[in-house]
This record gives sequence, C-alpha cells and structure tokens, in this order.
Amino acid sequence: MILPAHDMEPTSWENALRQFNEAAKILGLDSNLLEILTNPKLIIQVSIPVRMDDCSVKVFQGFRVQFNDFPGPTKGGIRFHPEVTLDEVKALAFWMTWKNIIADIPYGGAKGAVVCDTKTLSETELERLSRGYVQAIRKFIGPRDDIPAPDVYTNETIMAWMMDEYSKLVGHNVYGVFTGKPVELGGSEGRIEATARGGFFVLREALKKKRLKGQRIAIQGFGNVGSEMARILFENSFKVIAVSDSKGGIYKEDGIDINNLLAFKKETNSVTGFKRCKAITNEELLEINCDILIPAALQNQITDANAKNIKAGIVLELANGPLTAEARRILYDKGILVVPDMLANSGGVTVSYFEWVQNNIGYFWDRATVETELEKKMVKAFNNIYETSKDFNVNLGTAAYIFAVQKMVRIIELRGFYKHGVCKY
Ligand code: NAD
Repeated sequence: MILPAHDMEPTSWENALRQFNEAAKILGLDSNLLEILTNPKLIIQVSIPVRMDDCSVKVFQGFRVQFNDFPGPTKGGIRFHPEVTLDEVKALAFWMTWKNIIADIPYGGAKGAVVCDTKTLSETELERLSRGYVQAIRKFIGPRDDIPAPDVYTNETIMAWMMDEYSKLVGHNVYGVFTGKPVELGGSEGRIEATARGGFFVLREALKKKRLKGQRIAIQGFGNVGSEMARILFENSFKVIAVSDSKGGIYKEDGIDINNLLAFKKETNSVTGFKRCKAITNEELLEINCDILIPAALQNQITDANAKNIKAGIVLELANGPLTAEARRILYDKGILVVPDMLANSGGVTVSYFEWVQNNIGYFWDRATVETELEKKMVKAFNNIYETSKDFNVNLGTAAYIFAVQKMVRIIELRGFYKHGVCKY
C-alpha cells in the first residue's frame, strides 16, 4: 500500500492505487480489507508462439489479470499494443472491478493484453495470434468464469475468431465466453457504439449539473470510441471542433463535418489531412480552447505537466486512465467537472453484459431495447456517483471509488468472507 517515493511519472498501477487510497482513507477501511481489495486473484502470463507468413516463428507475450470475483465472473477487455505491460493490465483489471460495480452489473474485474503491433501483422498472422492467445488462457476463461471483450486495437472480428477457437477447444458452441462479437455470431445490437452512447448519456446528465457557455468539443482518439462519440455528438447538433488519432490532429473552429470525416478516415486510415482543417498535434488538441474535452485514446495523456493548460469546462474520460491522479486534482481545483472513466465509459461493458445475458437465454433484443436499457443504467450510475460526491463533499473521481468500494465491502460481508472489525474464528 505504501507507494514508492520517486520523481518519475507514476505507473498506471501506482496511479490506480493513489486514487483508490483516497477513497479508502475517507471510508476508514481496515488493513485486512485493503489487502483483500488491492491484490489480484489471478495473474496469468503466457508465451504465444505464432507461425508468421514467411514461415518463421515469433513468440508474443500475453497477460490476463483477474482481479476480484466476489460480485460474479470476471470481465474486461483484451488490449493488443506494442507497449502494454503487466503493470498496466493490473491497473486496468483493478479499474474494471470498480467500473462493473458502478454500472450495476454482476461481474468482478479482469483485463487481458498481448504485446504486439497489429499494424505490422498480416490478417492471417493476427488471426493465428488471436487464436494462440485463446489456446494459452483457455482454462481460465468461460461464460461462468471470465468473459473477455474488445479493447484498444482489438475488434469484433478478433472476438469472432476467439469465440470460434474457444468453442473448438471445448467441443461445442459457446457464444457467451466473449462479448463484442458480430451480431451474426451472437453479438448484441448496439454494442459497437455502446461505450460512446453510454458516454453521451452521461455527458447529457453532466450538462444538467454544469451549464456551459458553449458546446464546442475536442476529442482525442478516433478509434471505436472516439469516432462513434464524434458521430453521436454530430447527429445531436454538437459542434466537434477538433479530433485526433495516433498520426496527429485536425481543428476547425466552426465544426468538422463528422460524416465526411468518417468516410475520409475509412479511405486514408487517418484523420490527418482532412480538407479545410488546420493540422494540430495531439498535445495541442488537449489544450485547445473548447467547452468539452473528451480523451478517447490511451492512458496518462493529461498529467501535472499539461493539466494547468486545459481550458474545457467538462472533461469526459472515455479512455481508461487518461488523467493521472495529480492531473485530476489540478483540474478539480480549477473548477473543471471531470467525469471519471469508471463512470463515463461504462456503456461498453454494460452492453457487453446485455450481450452475455442474451447469449445465456438464447433470445436477442432489438436496438431500441438495448438503447433504452443502456440509458436507464447510465443515468442511474451518474446520479449514484453525483449524489455520493455531494454526500461526502468530494469530486466525482473519489465519489466513484467511494460508491464502488462501499458496495464491494457489502458484497464481501454478505458472502461471509470478512466482516469489518469482527473476527468469527
Ligand atoms: P481503438 O483501438 O479503436 O482506438 C484507439 C484510438 O486512439 C485510435 O484512433 C488511435 O489512432 C488513437 N491513438 C493511439 N495512440 C494515440 C496517441 N498517442 N495520441 C492520440 N491518439 C492515439 O480503441 P478504442 O476501443 O476506441 O479505445 C479507446 C480508449 O477507450 C481506450 O483507453 C480503451 O481502454 C477505452 N475503452 C474502450 C471501450 C470499448 O468498448 N472499445 C470501452 C471502455 C473503454
């Protein structure tokens, strides 16, 4: 629990612990509970040998961390990224634990990753790698044990391969082991845009609490989450003035035509170079003069180095961990409403849960039902966290942890595993 005192940027895990510790202190959690809640149940590290197209063999490293399964089977995405580390996966699995509780879905938290650069792999290599990962972690996953889903640089095609591989290995078809699958293979209507749509419902609630002069929006990241968010905002007459991807950003003061940009990105694989827009860097995008800033790319993008330059009135964290704990504190001190990731991006896992429910009962909902159920859950989650922030006089980030930790402690007590301050033995 004691964090190392060093001058370097905190790691993702250190960051996650710092934010959790604040809430734990306010709640007066005893040391036994701290031990239970901050140690992952299972850490899996695997080597995945893959036959490459040139007949050589390359061995990739993969991880799966199942953090806590007191509320139910564990759940969380799989990230394919060249720089992903076990430290990061552990932090992401920890965050998933709290996110699932905030979303009010019956899961514990997990996360997985493979260290790879998907941009350098052919489609057949990517498929062999995806299937190899499933072979390596097969014994630990399943619809009643651990249910993975897509995350950065994984998508519904990869989930289809993974579900197919798992089904082959166990000898029968198992839709419910992965979510985020194509609709034709047991996926749910509305899953692709679920994280963004959930974020949109949360933003709408946040705007009721904090009125802004304008509604000019900047979005960092134009992948699944960022591009879907841009599309939904554009459809709802918000002005998206800046977006970016890993190659750079674009800016247009009177608003970007997102439908045309989506077609451009499909053709060129990037938002850079889009007509009548000024080129900006990712760093400039974050500091741009806008009303709402939406980080939707990677973690640790806003740190104590750039937080003081953020000009938005609301920051909606659609990425996981885009702000360091110190950056969040700086923004809260500036009066900026920061909607924490565990709340803002929980729409994805919520519709993943709907997908799993549909797979388990073998009956599929229409899109309108998915959207209505998602809206109910997101509005309730926002209000739970907002009320907690008022009750404890804390920011939304700390309130999210307080709300989730209180509920987790109750679950642990109800299961009879441990009772705060009581020894039964
Ligand atoms: P994605 O792979 O579809 O897109 C990632 C985007 O980020 C791409 O546009 C990429 O070009 C951009 N990017 C990468 N490095 C960047 C950099 N250094 N600067 C700016 N942009 C950069 O991933 P995604 O599914 O959209 O996930 C984005 C974030 O949202 C991640 O933090 C992920 O954990 C989180 N998230 C995703 C889901 C989901 O349902 N997909 C759910 C919850 C949270």
